[in-house]
Amino acid sequence: MSRSESEIRTPQRPRRPRSAPDGQSFYNGIMSKREFQTEVSQLLHLIVHSLYSHPEIFLRELISNASDALDKLRHLTLTEEAFKDFPFQPRIDIEIDEAAGTLTFADTGIGMNEYDLIENLGTIARSGTKNFLSQLSGDARKDSNLIGQFGVGFYSAFMVADRIEVTSRKAGEEQAWRWSSDGKTGFEIEPAQRETSGATILLHLNEEGKEYANGWRLRDLVKKYSNHIAFPIFLTYDKSEWNAEEKKSTTVRTTEQVNAASALWRRPKSELTDEDYKEMYKSISGDFQDPLFWFHTRAEGNLDYTTLFYIPAKAPLDLFHSDYKVGVKLYVKRVFIMDDARELLPQYLRFVRGIIDSEDLPLNVSREILQQNRVLASIRTASVKKILSELKSIAANQPEKYQEFVAQYNRLLKEGLYSDYANRETLLDLIRFKSTKVDGLTSLAEVKTRMAAGQKSIYYITGGAENLLRTSPLLEIYRKKEIEVLILDDEVDEIVFSGVDKYEEIDLKAVNKASTSDDLKDESTPEADETERLKPLLEHLKTALGDRVKDIRPSVRLADSPSCIVFDEEEPSLQMQQMLRAMGQKEVPAPRPTLEINPHHEIVQKLLARTDDSLTQDAAFMLFDQALLLEGVPLPDPAAFVQRLNRVLNHSI
Ligand code: ADP
Ligand code: MG
Repeated sequence: MSRSESEIRTPQRPRRPRSAPDGQSFYNGIMSKREFQTEVSQLLHLIVHSLYSHPEIFLRELISNASDALDKLRHLTLTEEAFKDFPFQPRIDIEIDEAAGTLTFADTGIGMNEYDLIENLGTIARSGTKNFLSQLSGDARKDSNLIGQFGVGFYSAFMVADRIEVTSRKAGEEQAWRWSSDGKTGFEIEPAQRETSGATILLHLNEEGKEYANGWRLRDLVKKYSNHIAFPIFLTYDKSEWNAEEKKSTTVRTTEQVNAASALWRRPKSELTDEDYKEMYKSISGDFQDPLFWFHTRAEGNLDYTTLFYIPAKAPLDLFHSDYKVGVKLYVKRVFIMDDARELLPQYLRFVRGIIDSEDLPLNVSREILQQNRVLASIRTASVKKILSELKSIAANQPEKYQEFVAQYNRLLKEGLYSDYANRETLLDLIRFKSTKVDGLTSLAEVKTRMAAGQKSIYYITGGAENLLRTSPLLEIYRKKEIEVLILDDEVDEIVFSGVDKYEEIDLKAVNKASTSDDLKDESTPEADETERLKPLLEHLKTALGDRVKDIRPSVRLADSPSCIVFDEEEPSLQMQQMLRAMGQKEVPAPRPTLEINPHHEIVQKLLARTDDSLTQDAAFMLFDQALLLEGVPLPDPAAFVQRLNRVLNHSI
């Protein structure tokens, strides 16, 4: 069966048991073979070839699926009348049959019916997977750390198995179904028997997979990846035991619990080791790498809740996709509620992974309720404060670690500056900047300490690539006066910083805005005098350029260049306009820059001495065009520019 984009469903949301949409079975009495969608084959290929260095992650994936299924069933029994008395005996059983070369993963979770099996295992109904495929090209495919971030899911089991059978019965339904596949061509589905609800995944291990049919090995791996799964995981295997009486070792079929099965985040910090936290992170995030840091908070009093937040070492790849995966799971009294609620943290903190566990929310809290829930709003506000203040102390105490953080997330902090007014001051302290005074990145606090005595404002330049900004004529005077200027070369900078007026009572000013600051005024030559002196030339230029410019005036910011353009405070710059247009805004008024000329420049002096002729006409345009070019603005009429250039060239040879 094929389905269109719009039918693609987000997985992992607790759903009511449901049969086929039309109430009919898909099964037609003949065990039919179905083909995988192309994406599945592609994905399988990728998994096998890219993840090969970590085939053991199949274990983590299958256990986390079982744990999800148990979470979903528990949620049902707590919230749905029809499931109130449904027996819930959560456990995950892993069984090794060395002789047969099989591994079995069985859970007592929500299970799947025929429809679910086809939908969940037969197609990749997961938006994340599509992103995953499109993101990975060339070398990225070989980087299993990247791939690990996505959690490749059920299909990873085909790394170690050449045939998989899933026998499952959905909670509340009688009929069980068996799905089986070689993972290459397609799958078969047929009716089956199963005593209780849940799913049993039977792996026929392939050559590579054989090593996992070993009790000790598996024990270690379960501990490594799933120690803090909240449900007990039992392992059944042939254990060899030394029999002291008979003086030989015998094998005994043994079943034992291998994981701690506690909600780690509810245990006191003092009992937890770094390893515990890292394990937990890996099991909830699917990341291979250790997190950069984590913040574990237990709040008691007005509201009771626990939060455990992690910052991934690498920014998740889907951060800038509109359908990014939410990284924080909501629990109520240790019961998993949902993992796709975007309300839990503000959007700019979407890189955070972890858990919020509240004692005060109702178990049947719905998405709609969440949106306006006061309890959640308070937890959210406190969580943001907590995360930002922890980051601030890391910035102060572990600057090198903080650099790693900034390398990944600076841009998201800027997003916060734009959207989170309440935490603006803290965010301004956390963001790092390029600058004309230092290599690498710097903070506003540092910039402040470098301000010259009497300097009134902090300056920045936006609107283009770093090299363009660094060579802009607008910076000449600042260089000359040794005033630091921040280089804001990120696309979002102009929008974000046009809304930020101050840092700790100090004005933040863009150098390409028309009003010149007190820091630049040169007392020796009052502006009015200059204007008077240059009047004849200014008049010529005005006539030549006409409507193209808003005004022409002598500049106080130029040292080596003859001209530059600036904009009024309230007017968006040219780059900003281009961006607004690219974002689909139609009615973007064309901005009119003000042309400033350098009264002390040789060219300007010479022009002043000339009477009006065709050369001053050309010169007017060339002063304007070169200013545009240096701002990275494409010339409106390149042909005319070249003609003028040639005329002037002709004069000078
Ligand atoms: P994900 O877990 O990210 O959704 P998977 O490929 O691991 O992706 O699993 C796909 C889907 O198959 C799950 O979302 C779930 O609906 C279903 N599924 C997998 N394993 C089980 C299980 N043991 N019990 C019930 N449903 C399962
Ligand atoms: Mg999964």
